[in-house]
Amino acid sequence: MQCPYCGVIDSKVVDSRSSENDTSVRRRRECNACERRFTTFERIERRGRLVVIKRDGRRVPFSNDKILNGIRAACGKLPISEEVKLEIVRQVDDLMHRSYEREVESLKIGHEVARYLRGIDQIAFVRYASEYLSFESIEDIEEVIQELRESPPAVEGQSELFPSE
Ligand SMILES: [Zn+2]
Repeated sequence: MQCPYCGVIDSKVVDSRSSENDTSVRRRRECNACERRFTTFERIERRGRLVVIKRDGRRVPFSNDKILNGIRAACGKLPISEEVKLEIVRQVDDLMHRSYEREVESLKIGHEVARYLRGIDQIAFVRYASEYLSFESIEDIEEVIQELRESPPAVEGQSELFPSE
């Protein structure tokens, strides 16, 4: 911490206290060179929302609504409850925000949603994959299906994560 008076980067903390709302810490420091005192505030940075990089390179805000709409479209009239769909959104949201700091490719989100759907309903999975993983050829489809086969599904059927009542 650089002293605002003499510019020397050598100070000691003489007092430290949290602010009322607990999101910042106020520290009273004393410069070891000129012995003058100054105050610093250390703030806890709130985790921001991710930016999604689309396949065409455009950047858009991460949106749970968009993920949910994609899942709904893939599920169509299949007997998959709204609660299950919302749970997938919550899990994917949480995973993406834990795994990426600022930006994430839309394909990464698509793969993760596809992993969930694969464990829930094969038809929904295929519909989702063909719509959101934007295949350009049969080889692309085979590649993704192979990749998903090799990685375990996020859920094995509805039984474990989504117990049926
Ligand atoms: Zn100083």
